[in-house]
Amino acid sequence: MTTPIFDCPACGRAWGAEKPHWRCDCGSHLNLAPGDGLSRGAIATGKASLWRYAAALALHGPPRVSLGEGWTPLVRREWQGAPILFKLESQMPTGSFKDRGSAVMINHLIEAGVGPIHEDSSGNAGSSIATYAAAAGIPCRIYVPAAAPRAKLVQIAASGAEVQPIVGTRQSVTEAALAAAGESFYASHNWHPYFIEGTKTLAFELWEQLGFRIPDNILVPTGYGSNILGLDRGFDELERAGEITARPRLFAVQAANCAALAAAWTAGADGFVPFAAQPTIADGIATMRPVRTAEVLRALRRSQGGVAAVAEAEIAPALAAMGRLGLFVEPTAATAGAALNQLLRAGTITPDETTVIVLTGHGLKAAERIGEILGIEAG
Ligand SMILES: [Zn+2]
Repeated sequence: MTTPIFDCPACGRAWGAEKPHWRCDCGSHLNLAPGDGLSRGAIATGKASLWRYAAALALHGPPRVSLGEGWTPLVRREWQGAPILFKLESQMPTGSFKDRGSAVMINHLIEAGVGPIHEDSSGNAGSSIATYAAAAGIPCRIYVPAAAPRAKLVQIAASGAEVQPIVGTRQSVTEAALAAAGESFYASHNWHPYFIEGTKTLAFELWEQLGFRIPDNILVPTGYGSNILGLDRGFDELERAGEITARPRLFAVQAANCAALAAAWTAGADGFVPFAAQPTIADGIATMRPVRTAEVLRALRRSQGGVAAVAEAEIAPALAAMGRLGLFVEPTAATAGAALNQLLRAGTITPDETTVIVLTGHGLKAAERIGEILGIEAG
């Protein structure tokens, strides 16, 4: 494999990925240059994990650390009279989709010879990175909102990582982590290009699980957009390898109370636009300032999909409906069900199409909060 390159979208500088970079010297994020693509003959079909696609990952050797991440179930259930495929990313080792990105990023950081790391997270990415750092024997510190669900904080601490609760907004947590960038390596799932190298395997998996076909629509609860960018990258690689000739429509689902991408989308903008934010029960996607707003908007437009913003009052019924289908997910993941209702009502998505909902996080992550939302009394 040739040495992977990080490209800076702001100043154009290219960086070799053999050293651990999390951003460019000019302050911008970096993007990993396009990969070689994946053909079906390169799939290691004996591996029931995302490492079945190792041939298409920009790593030098086999993984040094794996907890069996990826190859999650794709389950068909009926939703509002439409057959829908639910991708159970909630069944990852730490209970959220983040493990795809964390596993590949941590393996890259091991290859790049990184020392202690830190990260900021509303909970799921923090527990994922802390878990993979523990598995790799890398010291790890996680900055979290003081108000994050307790189960997530417990999960982070149980891995042996140092937990740093920060009072204030999600943005205050990020700023605390940025301020610590001189002390240890900032292994940010929102900044580091290899996180998206991991999430791209979601595209490969959906394609393979559908018998080497692509779905028509994919709905993804979206904050910073790592799944949207991973899907875009993965389908792009399949297209360039000649495995597919069309692309699914990607729909980023946001909570209307905190919807940076929806604001930019509605304004027809190419990048971030200021917007007013309020609290939301979808804590995993309450993002004030997505790092790659322009790239996410571009991916959505390229796919001919869009952004769906759902009101708080729509999330709880969707959460309840998913529970009755046997899909116990955190409120953030339920936003996709509420968005699907909207898109079905509008006729944007029709029942005869193949539609996938990505269930990003497990209900056990936020069981107490779900109990409150659904009015389930303590026994
Ligand atoms: Zn730059």
